[in-house]
Amino acid sequence: MDAKFWRAEKNQCVRCVLCPHSCLIEPEGHGKCLIRKNIGGVLIASAYGKISSGAVDPIEKKPLYHFYPGSNILSVGFNGCNMSCLFCQNWQISTQETAVQDTSPAELVHSARKVFSIGIAYTYNEPLTNFEFVLDCAKEFRESGLKNVIVSNGMINPEPLNELIPYIDAANIDLKGFTEDYYKEHGGNLNTVKHTIEALFKGGVHVELTNLLIPQKNGNETDFANMCRFISGLSRDIPLHISGYFPQHKYDFPPTPNNALTDFAKKAKNYLNYIYIGNRAGCGFTDTTCPECGQLLIKRSGFKTQCLTDENKCPNCSQGFYAVF
Ligand code: SF4
Repeated sequence: MDAKFWRAEKNQCVRCVLCPHSCLIEPEGHGKCLIRKNIGGVLIASAYGKISSGAVDPIEKKPLYHFYPGSNILSVGFNGCNMSCLFCQNWQISTQETAVQDTSPAELVHSARKVFSIGIAYTYNEPLTNFEFVLDCAKEFRESGLKNVIVSNGMINPEPLNELIPYIDAANIDLKGFTEDYYKEHGGNLNTVKHTIEALFKGGVHVELTNLLIPQKNGNETDFANMCRFISGLSRDIPLHISGYFPQHKYDFPPTPNNALTDFAKKAKNYLNYIYIGNRAGCGFTDTTCPECGQLLIKRSGFKTQCLTDENKCPNCSQGFYAVF
């Protein structure tokens, strides 16, 4: 499949402009993300229709806590990534090409229906580097009345993003830190990610964010406060999931201590209405309560979810809250 968003350069090279890396790719080479390849002077989306991993997950695992809580979603991943996080939890599929299964948008719709999924989540690796396939699937799922969810690092240029947004229902974007230096260390660009978050939210997509807290690396309190201010500048209602890090890939720092997670979660509460601690039991910050009156709205234990309301309105004080049911 020919890729979108590229131009021909001298000597049969091509320039991919899907993401801010703007890779100049030599004949028979590939971009930083591995899966966009120059075949005979044409940029090819080599991962089109090729799935490396698939599962039916609770939507809470994406994590999305305010989007059809308690539902299941067909989740698929591909190969490749346009960042190079030294702590990548999915490096087996993001840094190399693995065995894949061929599929099509229609087949995935069929699979989603078979397992009573609300739709599809593009996740596990960085799915937007497989832009053409995600776009085609998203169109097919939308036409079928099913939902599209992206779980992404947000590293995509505005033009392709704007083409995709009308088909996306919800997104969880990794906000890995809040300095350009931190992003640079992991092959990314903070400004691009901020733009993506803003464009999705203003484009009507349900947005939640995840911050992986590694105290030795991104645990600066001022940077964290700046990140919370940026989010609350868009809306205090955007849920923030603070995740605990475990040693993985090239990092061997000890796991994030529980008290660091709760400290940062308490700080974030000064700026935002919905703060959660992910992937770590015993820290609290799992339930959703009404920001107005404190009424319990959604109770969670592991991936078990109990909704105490079936609409985005508090049953006690009638205040609306940021959720899709
Ligand atoms: S999508 Fe891949 S090939 Fe294209 S600019 Fe980004 S890293 Fe490079």
